[in-house]
Amino acid sequence: MSITKAVVWFRSDLRIHDNEALTQAISTATEVYPIYVFDTRMLSEYSEYSMRRVGKYRCRFMIEAVANLRSRLRSMGSDLIVRVGHPEEEIYQIASTLKSQWVFCNRERTPDEVAVQDSLEDKLWTVGQEIRYSRGKMLYYTQDLPFPITHTPDHFTAFRKEVEKVIPVREPIATPTTMRAMSHSIAAGNIPELADFGWEEYDHSSLPFPVLQGGETAGLEVLNQFVQAKPLVTLSGDRMDTECSYLGAYLSLGCLSPKMVYWKAKNASDGLVDRPKGIFFQLLIRDYLRLQVKKHGSQAFSRGGMRGRGDEHLMDDRKGLQTWKAALTGEPYVDAFMNQIDLTGYMPRIGRLSVAAYLVNQMGINWQMGAEYFESVLIDYDPCSNWGNWNLVAGVGGEYKDFSQYHIEYQCKKLDPDEAYLNRWHPQRSDHALIQDTRSAKQP
Ligand SMILES: Cc1cc2nc3c(=O)[nH]c(=O)nc-3n(C[C@H](O)[C@H](O)[C@H](O)COP(=O)(O)OP(=O)(O)OC[C@H]3O[C@@H](n4cnc5c(N)ncnc54)[C@H](O)[C@@H]3O)c2cc1C
Repeated sequence: MSITKAVVWFRSDLRIHDNEALTQAISTATEVYPIYVFDTRMLSEYSEYSMRRVGKYRCRFMIEAVANLRSRLRSMGSDLIVRVGHPEEEIYQIASTLKSQWVFCNRERTPDEVAVQDSLEDKLWTVGQEIRYSRGKMLYYTQDLPFPITHTPDHFTAFRKEVEKVIPVREPIATPTTMRAMSHSIAAGNIPELADFGWEEYDHSSLPFPVLQGGETAGLEVLNQFVQAKPLVTLSGDRMDTECSYLGAYLSLGCLSPKMVYWKAKNASDGLVDRPKGIFFQLLIRDYLRLQVKKHGSQAFSRGGMRGRGDEHLMDDRKGLQTWKAALTGEPYVDAFMNQIDLTGYMPRIGRLSVAAYLVNQMGINWQMGAEYFESVLIDYDPCSNWGNWNLVAGVGGEYKDFSQYHIEYQCKKLDPDEAYLNRWHPQRSDHALIQDTRSAKQP
């Protein structure tokens, strides 16, 4: 029997469960070579407004997630080949050396990621190989949608009505348990450390915040706790944090599949009526934003946003941005939220809405600067969820929403009547204040 070889290129799908690219590669080829490449363009470079594209929290989470993936693959009899560089070059080199037939990967939809996959596709073509794309990011399959992506409704409610009751969410595909060992000896490569990307180690285990360990194993534990209604933070009567699932980082890096989250929540047996409903709604918003960004393309990242609306009155005010980032605005909840994100890489949804609305409406600062800061610092950054939500708050999204009258204190007090959250995170009230020097020395 002739041996066929396939490379599996792991990207934002760092899991074994419900991973179509991996499963299809296993069922297509005799030998499968799983690979992950730390992309130095993302991990070492600066964005337009001079911020590191991947900050230390997400960087560490990514490293942990890759290490966890390697150990899971090893326990199945395989391994994970790890490289640091440009994925299209590293994978092309390995695929050429192996003389494999295909590279399997889950398709990305955002401009930077598409450029990388297109470039790899072109290179592979020159050596008679091809990419086989699968899907793995959304709750729904685009082929199940009752409209082409270009016709995705701009209004979320219209989108929801068209899909919610009409399309069933497919079940996760079966998780493979064993893999054939790789016969071609190829260096596995070391998993890099934080210092390799210019970050110092940090320890935030003393903070009133769960330490989110990267990887599928930890993600499945967080999901189990969520469906059993065991909040990760249980501080005195503080709803602001206990309402958070902390699933975002696992979904964004693909340590959890959205279908797995949906079905686990749905099948939870202890009468948790609201939680599965809530998470379904949130995962719908996530799909909606992904389709919106695909529909509107690079416009979603441009100043005029998806609507192509001019927002010339917003300023590229770097000093103002610094005040916002440093939690020095004087608006209590904004400063508390900004302190939390700086110290942990996380902020609850109401915080993201509040600080974004404040930056745009009160400070008159270009929303792209805020979006870039979130991109840099959020542990759960996802291009579509981040830039899509910023589009909405700035009023330049496909769907227009007016956040100009958004009353931060009124909204926050509803979740924080005793100011427990403020006492915990406001720089002047809390024991835990933003520590400027633990931020990257390189980050202005
Ligand atoms: C300005 C702004 C920027 C944001 N940037 C991101 C981002 O980079 N990555 C990200 O995952 N979410 C982002 N969100 C959406 C939302 O705030 C976070 O998903 C959520 O706060 C993460 O916390 P959690 O994991 O505890 O999730 P929960 O609040 O418990 O929600 C569960 C999950 O549902 C999804 N979800 C919920 N609300 C939204 C939403 N509005 N948009 C998209 N997905 C949603 C997420 O995957 C989330 O993990 C942003 C929101 C705003 C207003």
